[in-house]
Amino acid sequence: MKKGRLFIVSGPSGVGKSTVLRALLEQRENARFSVSATTRPAREGEIDGVDYHFVAEETFRDGIARDEFLEYAEYVGHFYGTPKKFVEAALDAGQDIILDIEIQGAAQVEKRSPEAVSIFIGPPSWAELERRLTARGTNTPEDIQRRLARAKVEIQNASAYDYFVVNGSLAEAVRELDAIMTAEHCKPKDFLPLLADA
Ligand code: 5GP
Repeated sequence: MKKGRLFIVSGPSGVGKSTVLRALLEQRENARFSVSATTRPAREGEIDGVDYHFVAEETFRDGIARDEFLEYAEYVGHFYGTPKKFVEAALDAGQDIILDIEIQGAAQVEKRSPEAVSIFIGPPSWAELERRLTARGTNTPEDIQRRLARAKVEIQNASAYDYFVVNGSLAEAVRELDAIMTAEHCKPKDFLPLLADA
């Protein structure tokens, strides 16, 4: 069976990654979202085990010591990490995996899995990003400022990614991500047995 592909999706906080990815996953049956572990408290409406595995810092540190993370990083005062076991099992089962991770984690994954495909989701403008982050209403003003400062650094690193998708219209962003994933399955290297038979 063909292994699944690993897709890294990064983008500044507030750009709408979760909404875009939720819509994308509804239309790509063979793709699954990797649920990260985090030490940040759950926001209203977030479900443990669905949005994140919400864990105590001690539990997270145990996970690091046991090498349970494919990558992990600290972001605005909290830890976030990708569970290695889940990702490896799903890829082996032929499923595409989407990691919604920030740039330090993305760099770690690229190093370990150079065949991973990286996509950066950017806002249509800086002002719009600030508006969306504030409108969410679930972050404190101090947290918003920290996230905006971090967003600058992230956007400065966007050219290291394989693709850049602007989340202006949700439908358009989903269409572009879907097209990227489809195109990544149309590489000659994925058809080596067929090519070898020629
Ligand atoms: P939020 O607190 O807004 O849910 O996420 C903050 C940032 O952490 C986002 O940029 C998100 O992509 C990133 N993130 C979520 N899970 C992980 C993870 O497992 N590893 C890393 N490195 N970043 C993550």
